[in-house]
Amino acid sequence: MLGNFSYSNPTKLYFGENALEHLGAELTHYGKNVLLVYGGGSIKKNGIYDQVVSILKSCDKEIIEDPGVMPNPTAEKLYQGCQRAREGKVDLILAVGGGSVCDYAKAVSVSTYCEEDPWDKYYLRMEDVDNKIIPVGCVLTMVGTGSEMNGGSVITNHEQKLKIGHVFGDNVFPKFSILNPTYTFTLPRYQMIAGFFDIMSHILEQYFSGEDDNTSDYIMEGLLKSLIHSTKIAVENPTDYEARSNIMWIATWALNTLVAKGKSTDWMVHMIGQSVGAYTDATHGMTLSAISIPYYRFIMPYGLQKFKRYAVNVWDVSPDGKTDEQIAGEGLTRMERYMREIGLVMNIKELGVTEEMLDGIARGSFIMDGGYKVLSNDDILTILKDSMG
Ligand code: NAP
Ligand code: FE
Repeated sequence: MLGNFSYSNPTKLYFGENALEHLGAELTHYGKNVLLVYGGGSIKKNGIYDQVVSILKSCDKEIIEDPGVMPNPTAEKLYQGCQRAREGKVDLILAVGGGSVCDYAKAVSVSTYCEEDPWDKYYLRMEDVDNKIIPVGCVLTMVGTGSEMNGGSVITNHEQKLKIGHVFGDNVFPKFSILNPTYTFTLPRYQMIAGFFDIMSHILEQYFSGEDDNTSDYIMEGLLKSLIHSTKIAVENPTDYEARSNIMWIATWALNTLVAKGKSTDWMVHMIGQSVGAYTDATHGMTLSAISIPYYRFIMPYGLQKFKRYAVNVWDVSPDGKTDEQIAGEGLTRMERYMREIGLVMNIKELGVTEEMLDGIARGSFIMDGGYKVLSNDDILTILKDSMG
C-alpha cells in the first residue's frame, strides 16, 4: 500500500542538444556574482567551459572561479569553496560537471553561511538546514548520480575515513539543470560505464524493498529494461545519440525522488560502496558494481518473491518448471553476465581494497533498515569477503 507523502520537484530541466541556449534566460533570475564550480579540467578540453563563460559574460556576470573539484569531493575542498563563496558574495553557484561537481555545489550552497563546522552539522549529524542557502544551477557533463534533480550531496572526509551523503530537502535541489546528451560523449569509457551502473543501482536500491503492490515498482521495471537496452548499444557505440539521451533521462528519473514516494527503500549497496570509497577513493559506480552481486545473493532468501519478479519481468527468465529459488537465482546470474559484458569492475580487490581494510570498511558502513534484511556487522563482513573475488 502506498504510504502518505508530499511531492514536489522544483528543478527546471532543459534537455537536448540545444539546452545551453536557455542558460542566459535562467541567469537573469539571479544577482551578479556567480561561483563557477568545475572539476579537473575536462570542460576546458571539450569546449563546454568556453561556451558557459561566454554566456556568463554576455549576461554581464562577475565570475568567481572555483575549479579543481575532485571525483568524490572532500570536506577540505568544501571549506575552501565556502570561503570563496563568502568572499565573493555569491548570488548563484553554477556547477559544470558530473555528480561530484553538482554534489559539491549543493554542499557549498548550504555550508557557506553555516555558523559551525558544516561537516559536523550536515554530514555527521544530518541536521536540517536553518541558514541562508545559495541557489545552485547545473550544466551536467556526466550521467549517473541524478544529482541534477535531487538534494543528494556526498562528501568524503579522508581523515575520518568516512564518505557520507546528506539528502537535503527541495530547497536545496538545483533551481535548474541543463542536460545535453552530447556533453557526455567525451567521457572516458571507465567513467561512462561506472555511471551506467550507478543508475542501475539507484533503481535497485528502491526496487528491492517492501512486498506491497506499488506503482513505483512497475515504473522501475520499465526504467531498468530501457537502461539495459540502451547501455548495450552505448557500449558498442558511445556516440549513439538515441541511446545516450535515453540513458541521461533514465538517470534523472532513477533518482529525482519520484519512484521513492510512498514506498520503503534499501540503500545498503550505496552504504557499503561509500565506505569502500572512503578507504580507496575508487570511482563510485565501480564500488557499487563490485559488491552488488554478493549483496543481492546474500539477501535474496529474505526477499525471494521480489527477486523472482525481477528475474521474470526485467531479465526475461522463464519460470516454467523451476522453483522460486531457481528463477530468482537465474535473474541474478543474467544480471551478473550483463555486468561483465559491459565491462564493470566485479570485485573490490581491483579497487585497491586489502584484507586489512575489511573491518574498517564494515564499521564505516551505515546500516539502513529498509531492505529485506537489516544487516549486522558480520553480515557486511561476509558480503565484503565475497566481494574480494
Ligand atoms: P564525477 O566524479 O563527477 O566525474 C568522474 C570523472 O569524469 C571526473 O574525473 C571528471 O573529470 C570526468 N568527466 C565528467 N564529465 C566528463 C566529460 N563530459 N568528458 C570527460 N570527462 C568527464 O562522477 P559522478 O559519478 O557523476 O559523481 C560521483 C560522485 O557523486 C560520488 O561522490 C558519489 O558518491 C556521488 N553520488 C551522488 C548522488 C546524489 O544523489 N547526489 C548519487 C550517487 C552518487 P573532470 O573533473 O575533469 O571534470
Ligand atoms: Fe549512486
